[in-house]
Amino acid sequence: MKIGFVGLGNMGAPMAANLAKAGHAVSGYDAAGVTAEGVAPAATLAEAVTGIEAVITMLPNGDIVRAVHADIVRQAQAGALLIDCSTVDVDSARAAHDMAREAGLLSLDAPVSGGTGGAAAGTLTFMVGGSDAAFAKGKPLFDIMGQKAVHCGEAGAGQAAKICNNMILGISMIGVCEAFHLADKLGLDRQAMFDVASTSSGSCWSINTYCPAPGIGPKSPADNDYKPGFAADLMLKDLNLSQTAAETAGATTELGRHARDIYAAFVESGGGKGRDFSAILDKLAKQ
Ligand code: NAD
Repeated sequence: MKIGFVGLGNMGAPMAANLAKAGHAVSGYDAAGVTAEGVAPAATLAEAVTGIEAVITMLPNGDIVRAVHADIVRQAQAGALLIDCSTVDVDSARAAHDMAREAGLLSLDAPVSGGTGGAAAGTLTFMVGGSDAAFAKGKPLFDIMGQKAVHCGEAGAGQAAKICNNMILGISMIGVCEAFHLADKLGLDRQAMFDVASTSSGSCWSINTYCPAPGIGPKSPADNDYKPGFAADLMLKDLNLSQTAAETAGATTELGRHARDIYAAFVESGGGKGRDFSAILDKLAKQ
């Protein structure tokens, strides 16, 4: 397939490289001029998307996605598939779908979980919104870049799934960090706390798989001085998206809001800069 890839950053570059490695003809464009292995560099967005069958975007935020997709729909050939894998607000995702539909193009919102490691290894999970026809056309590409693609529903459903999942993650990570912090204060050994909670009703991904306490449980960013992993500022971005969505939709998400405020304070104080989102435990321990 002839594929255009727009946004060759930490995530986009390895995803585009995996498509090229699988034998697709990939042309890549990034505003910063960066390229990816096996990908033909395009000097302009128009060059990357002209005559292609599918375009994938992996961009920082909703405003950029809206602007780039407005340009893409003017250049892409009828019937082409537009896939946005960025994490953005549901309204921007739906706006991108509307632009594609009006131009006679297929479209999917398909944010990912799995981070830069998953992007490099081709083991991402895609949460996908859009029509059955668009999903069927995109599925072979998801199978190259990832290990799972869930068709969540119509336009915007992928972004909705992503922000709901990450709201759970932000809340549960804070809960696990506070429990370790309380255990410390009570003189309870961290290993004993892990052994109990990870096999009891407190078990969850944030403790069992991604334990924020160094030296305990499977290897995680805590064992690498909290180098991300999943950076605290990206968690803050996702918690802001879920709060904006909750306000628009009229949903009550009080713990989501509290988690957002905790990550905002962590990032804005400078304590979370360049650190994994599980470093909340380190912050509590140093108080
Ligand atoms: P990044 O900043 O490394 O990459 C974004 C790229 O987009 C940059 O190279 C930038 O130059 C390019 N870009 C910006 N504006 C552009 C434009 N107008 N035209 C073309 N290129 C443009 O970010 P990333 O870590 O690759 O994340 C990309 C998206 O994936 C974000 O929405 C992020 O929330 C999401 N995401 C990231 C991770 C992660 O672990 N990094 C995990 C899941 C989801």
